[in-house]
Amino acid sequence: MEIQVHDIRKTFDGTAAALDGISLTIRSGELLALLGPSGSGKTTLLRVIAGLEFPTGGSVLFDGDDASHRTVQERNVGFVFQHYALFRHMTVLDNVGFGLAARPRANRPAKAEIRRRAEELLALVQLQGLEHRSPAQLSGGQRQRVALARALAIEPTVLLLDEPFGALDAKVRKDLRRWLRQLHDRTGHTTVFVTHDQEEALELSDRVAIINQGRLEQIGTPSEAYLRPESAFVFDFLGSTNVLPVEVRDGRAFFAGCPVPVADGIEAGDGHYTLQARPCDMMLAVDRQGPGLGGIAEMVRVSLGRVRVDMKVGGLARPIELELPMKGEGWRELQPGQSLRVRIDRYHLFAAP
Ligand code: ATP
Repeated sequence: MEIQVHDIRKTFDGTAAALDGISLTIRSGELLALLGPSGSGKTTLLRVIAGLEFPTGGSVLFDGDDASHRTVQERNVGFVFQHYALFRHMTVLDNVGFGLAARPRANRPAKAEIRRRAEELLALVQLQGLEHRSPAQLSGGQRQRVALARALAIEPTVLLLDEPFGALDAKVRKDLRRWLRQLHDRTGHTTVFVTHDQEEALELSDRVAIINQGRLEQIGTPSEAYLRPESAFVFDFLGSTNVLPVEVRDGRAFFAGCPVPVADGIEAGDGHYTLQARPCDMMLAVDRQGPGLGGIAEMVRVSLGRVRVDMKVGGLARPIELELPMKGEGWRELQPGQSLRVRIDRYHLFAAP
């Protein structure tokens, strides 16, 4: 099922536009992430696609047919929300079969068939043996898998997931991510999932749509979005924290009059720019007195396999963040108060605002 979202606008009473003219195409069978900060409009867009919310303007097409006025049931979408309320008084099996059992008599499968399908789906989400438990006897991760099985039971044309793993701890989230990807590859449903977690969006999706203030900033594969950000917002949102106002003169960048060493030279014409670089692309100069962007180490923290350093640079309100691999011995000597110099291996230049 291909979904075309065309110039969707949504204004709630008395608020600025939650969606401000979004157009995008969700390809048949793809796993698309809607990624953006809190309040950017992701959930509203998902609800508009579902038919839970009617847009103020624009249209939604399912396989080329205008579905804008169809109800949720008519669109036949499967849902999973962050806090998916399973029915507490029903067994896992009955929860999964609920969507089928609640159908009007004319197209409701027989009881035995509902049971067979529910069992099949519980096997698909790897929950065999738990059919007769109540939701209260399951872990959070298991409950979300039941919720997914329940969404799949109605044989939806499209699967819509709103922060499906948001309430789970980091390790379970990671496992479920991998598992959802495999499930998607097996079932091939067109799937749209909302997340504000950049890593989750990039790791899980075929393509990612980045939303900001009700507008689409960029849509593309994870590597396109990460390596070729089309706006300073996308670059910053996908992990960049270092922002340096620079002046480019004759292919060299200067910050506060001092040259900023960057790999490969600068291709932009002379003028004022914002240079952005990810913490992992800031390299520590071995010679701490030599050329480089200089500063003082403020904070040194050991993280999983990396050392993070905040470097205070005169004239910048925010410290420059470095993320260094824990290789060799150099990182062991890093201490707050030390003078450091860095060069920048990879960066993007955007026109100064
Ligand atoms: P989050 O990640 O925090 O869930 P989001 O990107 O999903 O955020 P939305 O929930 O779509 O964002 O909200 C977008 C904007 O629309 C916000 O400013 C929000 O306050 C507003 N909004 C959403 N639903 C309603 C509503 N029912 N009534 C009024 N305003 C709403």
